[in-house]
Amino acid sequence: MRIERVIGHIAGVPVGTVFHRRRDVQRAQLHQTNQKGISWLFDKDGSKVGDAIVLHGGYVDDEDGWQQIQYTGASEGKDKDSAGRLLRSQSWSYEDNAALLLSYERKYPIRVIRGYKGDSRYSPSNSYRYDGLYEIADVRTTSSKQPAPDGSPIEICQFDLRRLPESNQAQAPVERHLIDVLEELDDEPTHVEKFPRSRSMRVRRLIRDTAAAQRIKQLYEGECQLCGLRLTGPDGSPFSQGAHIRPLGRPHHGPDVEPNILCLCPNCHVRLDVGAVAVDENGSVIVRADLSGVTLLPQLTVKDGHRVHPEYLGYHRRYWEGKGSGHAT
Ligand SMILES: [Zn+2]
Repeated sequence: MRIERVIGHIAGVPVGTVFHRRRDVQRAQLHQTNQKGISWLFDKDGSKVGDAIVLHGGYVDDEDGWQQIQYTGASEGKDKDSAGRLLRSQSWSYEDNAALLLSYERKYPIRVIRGYKGDSRYSPSNSYRYDGLYEIADVRTTSSKQPAPDGSPIEICQFDLRRLPESNQAQAPVERHLIDVLEELDDEPTHVEKFPRSRSMRVRRLIRDTAAAQRIKQLYEGECQLCGLRLTGPDGSPFSQGAHIRPLGRPHHGPDVEPNILCLCPNCHVRLDVGAVAVDENGSVIVRADLSGVTLLPQLTVKDGHRVHPEYLGYHRRYWEGKGSGHAT
């Protein structure tokens, strides 16, 4: 059977889908190999073009900023010693680098998959996750931060990738259109900045309770990480919400990834969003408003398999400290 190879999204694999093994990433046709960083396929004219990369903590010169990625190319065979130092310089003639370079020239989007060894701010804790499409914005030859074991300098092939706008990350036309409208709303100058609870944010949450948010809610079985409440319906099914600590969208641009999401009851979600409560980098709950009749936990509950990243907690806390009182309007 001939498998059709695809540049761009793979039908039926939404952004945010998680895979437990590299093999599963390959089976889903997101990446053509089981081990390498760069994936390529044959373009219509027969030349090799890159279609996907995996970020899995492979190279000292990689930098992940979610919206922007600095990615190191590859070289054939074993290219690192046991300490992770590159043994030799990289070359643009090596097929993986050449394929990704051609994708840059042809302006093809690249699927990005993050593995658990990647930057802890963005990576899943024990799996691989499809994080959508990026464009290659620039390429260069540069020196690695780390010389070879014998001290000689190492040249690397380096790629700058930029995450495509949210409207490019949704696959259904209706969803894409809605996101376009919402992004326009966010741009309106009259738009009142409330931490994240603008109308568009609420609608956006409705149209995509994202895969990452769903996973966090399932992990906690609906139990609120701030107050311990597990709100259930008459049939026993839990009602909880996936709350982004650093909000999605403008002006905050928080990523939709597990380390930035809490499972909260609806009340605590509001408390977090209006700054009535914050959490310090060690997980201590800081009450910033009168919460008569409500008892919050002294410490954020965090379960195994969920890393809440201190950077997002710090961003949220500093934002509200900068605003003074946490009173909602
Ligand atoms: Zn709660």
